[in-house]
Amino acid sequence: MQLKSFTTAAGQLALLWLAATELCSAKPLPQWNQELLNGSPRAAHGRPYSRKHSDPYDHKVDAIGDKLTPLPWRNGDGATMMGPRNKARERQNPDLVRPPSTDSGTMPNLRWSFADSHIRIEEGGWTRQTTVRELGASTEIAGVNMRLEEGVIRELHWHKEAEWAYVLKGKVRVTAIDLEGGNFIDDLEEGDLWYFPSGHPHSLQGLSPNGTEFLLVFDSGSFSEDSTFILTDWLAHTPKAVLAQNFRLEPEIFEALPKSEKYIFQGSVPGPIEEERPTGEHIKKSKHNFTHKLLAQEPVNTTGGEVRIVDSTNFPLSTTIAAGHLTLHPGAMREMHWHPNADEWSFFLKGRARVTIFAAEGNARTFDYQAGDVGVVPRNMGHFIENLSDDEPVEVLEIFRADRFRDFSLFQWLGETPKRLVADHIFQGDKERTEKFLNSIDGAEKDLIKSRYLD
Ligand code: MN
Ligand code: MN
Repeated sequence: MQLKSFTTAAGQLALLWLAATELCSAKPLPQWNQELLNGSPRAAHGRPYSRKHSDPYDHKVDAIGDKLTPLPWRNGDGATMMGPRNKARERQNPDLVRPPSTDSGTMPNLRWSFADSHIRIEEGGWTRQTTVRELGASTEIAGVNMRLEEGVIRELHWHKEAEWAYVLKGKVRVTAIDLEGGNFIDDLEEGDLWYFPSGHPHSLQGLSPNGTEFLLVFDSGSFSEDSTFILTDWLAHTPKAVLAQNFRLEPEIFEALPKSEKYIFQGSVPGPIEEERPTGEHIKKSKHNFTHKLLAQEPVNTTGGEVRIVDSTNFPLSTTIAAGHLTLHPGAMREMHWHPNADEWSFFLKGRARVTIFAAEGNARTFDYQAGDVGVVPRNMGHFIENLSDDEPVEVLEIFRADRFRDFSLFQWLGETPKRLVADHIFQGDKERTEKFLNSIDGAEKDLIKSRYLD
């Protein structure tokens, strides 16, 4: 009796939800949405997180966009939740609460949000990091998110790891020197990169009007932003008599030295580069280019978005970090692929995404990511990125500790393989389905991001 009345109520809710969905859709629906409403299990069998829900194809659900609270119901199995809950976290990870039926086995955690990282607050800025200490799988790469207001300096320093960076917002000035003693100064803005090889000294400073925020990437997961070699730290731990001889001065000159490192601090606002550049008999400009304009590149052609790839082929100094900047249009997907030469360290810049990582031996797990989140996909593990939203793009950086961006496309692989061989694997003699599939992979085109429309 109780069960029956619950079912009826759930059914009525589902009908109400469907009616509301159709009422709200004033604009004509794109073909893909029509298909969802007409034929998909999501429309035909109730709300995604209800007892009645059934979806043998495991379609994605945009829990945040559709304001849904995930529950562990799947194709008739599962139950409600009775204990304490963190609903905001569950909504961010709908595919952990109700995994696709294809997920299986044990996998390490492959997701971290910078929102869960400790922020070190300093004068006019802050910094937070995602390393192997926050995300155990992040062994090849560590990431640091840093903000510097106008005039604020990340002080002169160096470290053993190479440093690659992507400017998220605002404007920043970078300085460095190379091994031949040549100096480098440049001003960067959103979408620009820098790369400082291992041990090369450098500095960063926020410019007008609002300073800058950027993502730093280091080619070791155990890097710590708190343990770099800093100018004022070294000076504070060197006898003043030694400083005096080193700089050919009286020791009294150094009485005002900071007692410990300054790290991030308010500096004076710099003038134009040409006014600031050091002059003198032995001063020379570097012959190397430590910076690169990634977003200014012509994108690679795909049906569902834009891809810009940067590695040592177009940014020669960057021999230990390769990256792709991907924009997935609403409803589009980064095709099924894997990377043979490095773990992927992904940083989500915009939108919401579903990623299933296949680890062989029947193991697969699905994670959801949104802006500010980090993902790791261990080398060679198969994966894709689906844009969960039908309205907003997903923007993501795929970053690798490698000199080249390398991937294998499942689509291209099968297209480049004898058709009979492919058919024998998948279709078990079903002629009609075999023909459709073989037609689709005919031509073997790599299409890094696939549009949502079925042609
Ligand atoms: Mn640095
Ligand atoms: Mn990838």
